[in-house]
Amino acid sequence: MPLRVAHLLPCTEAEGPGRRTAIWVQGCRIRCPGCCNPELFGVSGGEPWSTGALVHAARVAGTEGVTLLGGEPLDQPEAVTDLSRAAREAGLSVLLYSGYARDEVCARAPDLLQWVDVLVDGPYDEQQPEGAARRWIGSRNQGLHFLTDRYGPADFRGANTVELRLRGGVLTVNGWPAPGTLRR
Ligand code: SF4
Repeated sequence: MPLRVAHLLPCTEAEGPGRRTAIWVQGCRIRCPGCCNPELFGVSGGEPWSTGALVHAARVAGTEGVTLLGGEPLDQPEAVTDLSRAAREAGLSVLLYSGYARDEVCARAPDLLQWVDVLVDGPYDEQQPEGAARRWIGSRNQGLHFLTDRYGPADFRGANTVELRLRGGVLTVNGWPAPGTLRR
C-alpha cells in the first residue's frame, strides 16, 4: 500500500543515529500545540510513494536506515507497516516517531513493531521540551523504546544538530535545534 509522503530526505545525519533516509509522512490528526510541522496536518498534501520506491531511495543513498516521522505515521497504519517490513527485510533499520502512545500504536498496527528498531511515542508537549539528556526527542514526556539490539541509549546521547541546505536558491532546514533558537 502506498504511503502518503510530504517530504523525503535521502541522506541526513540529523534525524537519528548514523546516516538515515528521513521520510515525513503527510497528515496528522493529533495536532499537538506547538508542533513544528503544522503544514503536515492536512491529509491532502504530499504524494503517494510505493514501498519499493522508498526502500530503493534509501538503498541508493547508502543509508543505514529509515526514519519515519511526520505528520503521523500511525494515521497510515497499513502503509507504514508495509514500509517498515520492507525496510527491515532490505537490511535497513527503522526509527519510528508517533504521537500515539505505544499501546495505541499496537492497536492501530498490530504487526508493525516487530519491524521497528526504535520507537519514540507520545504527543509533543511544548511545556516539557527535552533538554540535553536525549538527542532527537521533542519533549520529556515522550517514550524512547529500543525494540531490538541495533541501537541503545548511547546512540541517543549528544548534542542535537541542524542541517541547512541551499539548492537552487531554496534554503531548507532539518534537524533538532535547541528550543527557542529557531523560529518560523
Ligand atoms: S503527533 Fe507529531 S506531527 Fe502530529 S501534531 Fe504532534 S508533533 Fe506534530
